[in-house]
This record gives sequence, structure tokens and C-alpha cells, in this order.
Amino acid sequence: MTRIYNFGAGPAMLPTQVMEKAQTEFLDYNNMGAGVIEISHRSKEFDQIINSTDALLTELAGIPSNYKILYVHGGAQMQFSAVPLNIINRNPSQKATFIETGSWTVKARKEAARYGNAITAATSADTNFDRIPEFDADSLDDDNSYAYITSNNTLFGTRWNSFPDTGDIPLVADMTSEFLSRELDINQFGIIFAGLQKNLGPAGLAVVIIREDLLGHALPITPSLLDYQVYADNHSLSNTNNTFAIYMMSLVLQWLKDEGGVANMEARNNAKARIIYDVIDDSDFYLGAAQPAHRSMMNVTFNLANNDLLDDFLKGALENGLYALKGHRVVGGARASIYNAMPTAGCQALADYMAEFERSNS
Ligand code: PMP
Repeated sequence: MTRIYNFGAGPAMLPTQVMEKAQTEFLDYNNMGAGVIEISHRSKEFDQIINSTDALLTELAGIPSNYKILYVHGGAQMQFSAVPLNIINRNPSQKATFIETGSWTVKARKEAARYGNAITAATSADTNFDRIPEFDADSLDDDNSYAYITSNNTLFGTRWNSFPDTGDIPLVADMTSEFLSRELDINQFGIIFAGLQKNLGPAGLAVVIIREDLLGHALPITPSLLDYQVYADNHSLSNTNNTFAIYMMSLVLQWLKDEGGVANMEARNNAKARIIYDVIDDSDFYLGAAQPAHRSMMNVTFNLANNDLLDDFLKGALENGLYALKGHRVVGGARASIYNAMPTAGCQALADYMAEFERSNS
């Protein structure tokens, strides 16, 4: 079979080697005569899988020893509830400040507002989120329980290039659409979370990296399966977790390590994005949606100057094996999501197609 280049925002393509390994092991994991989805989350075999997932993640992301890794149900959006439930009570003010860079931050703020005082300190809504807004971290009041950002904005195709220094106020980052795509200093964050379905594995589960001192502040109403302390105390196995997703994540992490780790992946990702941004920047036919200084390396958003050509552009792309390039409905146009597993050849194929489409339609 020929695998398509899948530019969908997520669930997104996984490395072919990972899919093949999972396929080989599906019926018979490690000569057990059973597959991973058929064995207990408390078996010694699964214990090895989750331990190796922890170890690989610690190594690849450089997670310091005062942080816990949790595998939390419900994907990324469930963390929009879990974060305030767990830490908005750190201060009696029950206040959290959001720097809004797109719909995902707005949604997260609305969830937090159910449990406390959720404030917007800066937003780029006035320019349809085409940039990261100016924000002075010194303006944050000390009584904030946390400050919140979305590090990469999947819909609008922007990202924080560097992160605000919020001092003693824990910075919480939704890194769903870019985790492990670039090097980071985990110490800058109180909590990082990411749904698995872009750079890590299947949908439905989130990985949460939390500084230990932020555990133990959950509001009394917190359901136990959203209480990060319960996850930390039980190695994320207080109930039957999504063992298959954790297994798939271990395969993806091993692949990332084999590819030379995050630093190599970051260089590759920058070069991949450049291939497509160059086509956009060299033409009046395509218009980049994000301000160049704020561009994402994971989600490349653009419009056609003549929007009437968009349907033909997308149809032709599909005929060339370039799948799911339609932009999100709130932004329109096209979006190429080029997560870690998108090969450079996929970006080149898209760039070639874009140049050819421009030539035949100008
Ligand atoms: N945050 C970001 C940045 C996302 O891109 C997404 C999904 N596209 C979500 C949150 C929501 O993820 P989930 O569907 O796992 O809740």
C-alpha cells in the first residue's frame, strides 16, 4: 500500500515504523501469545511498558526529578477542567490569568471560570489570533494561583517562541500540538500537558508533567479521576488506564530517540516548515495567515489570494496524496499540520504541488 501524507491537525500521522511495529506485536506481544490490549494494566508486562514510557519521556524531554509524569484520561480538553480543579485553590484568591492566543485558550479559560476567577491579561482576538499578544509577566499579581498559555496554536498557526517568566507563579502550558517538537526547559513550567494525538500516539489520553509542589491542592469537589495527586500516587493506574495508548506512546518515544531525540527533531521541523513558508513568502498567490515572527513550526496556515480556487486546490492536493489540508472552519483557507512524524518528503511534495498549482492558475 501507499501511505498518504496526512496533513490533518489530529489525530495525525504516526511514524510508519511505529505503525508497523504495533501491527507486528498486535496479536502477540513479546511472545506472550496475547496482545497488549488483552493483558492487565497490573501485569508485569504492562508495568515494563509504562516504566519504559516514563524513562523515555524523562530522557527525551529532560524532565527534572521534582516533576511527575501522569497519564490522564479525557485528552487535552479534560485538562482544561483538571488544571483549575487541581491548582486554582493554591491561593485563597482562586485566581488564574490567561494569555489568549486562540480558541483553545478561550475554552480553557471558560472551564477555569467554573471553579474560580479566570482573568484574561492579554489577547490577540482583535487580529483574529494572527500573533502572540504583548504580555508583561511582571504585571501578574502575586495572588495568582497560576498563569496559563497555549504554547502552539493549532488553529491559527502561531506559537510562543519564548515563554513568559512568571517567577513564583506557576506557568501552565497546553502543548498538545507541539510537545517534543522543540527543546524546552521544563523548569519554566508548573504544569505542561498534551493530548497524545499529534506528536505522541492515539487520541483520548493526555500526558501531564507537573511540578511536585503543585500536587495536593485539589478542590474538594474534584472527581478522583481528575485529581492529579491520585494519578501520582497510583502511577496513573488507580483505574484501568488506556494501556494501548501508553504502549503506542512508548513506541513513538523510542522512534524519536532513534531519530536523534528532540534537538534533531527540532532542526528537522524547522527545515520542514521552511520549505512550505518559503513557497508562501515567495508568492502573492498564497497568503500566510500568521504574522511571520509568530509562526508555528507545526501548523502552517495560509489562504489563497483568490479564495474561489480553494476547493480546486484541496481537490488537486488529495489527488496527489496530500490529505486533510483544509483549514479549520474558524480560520478558513488551508492548513498543513506537519508534526514530528511528517517526513521532509511530505513537506517537499506539498511545496511542489503548491508551486505547480500556482503556475497553472496564474
Ligand atoms: N489544545 C490544543 C492546543 C489542541 O490542538 C487540541 C486539539 N486539536 C486540544 C487542546 C483538544 O484536544 P482533545 O480533543 O484531546 O481534547
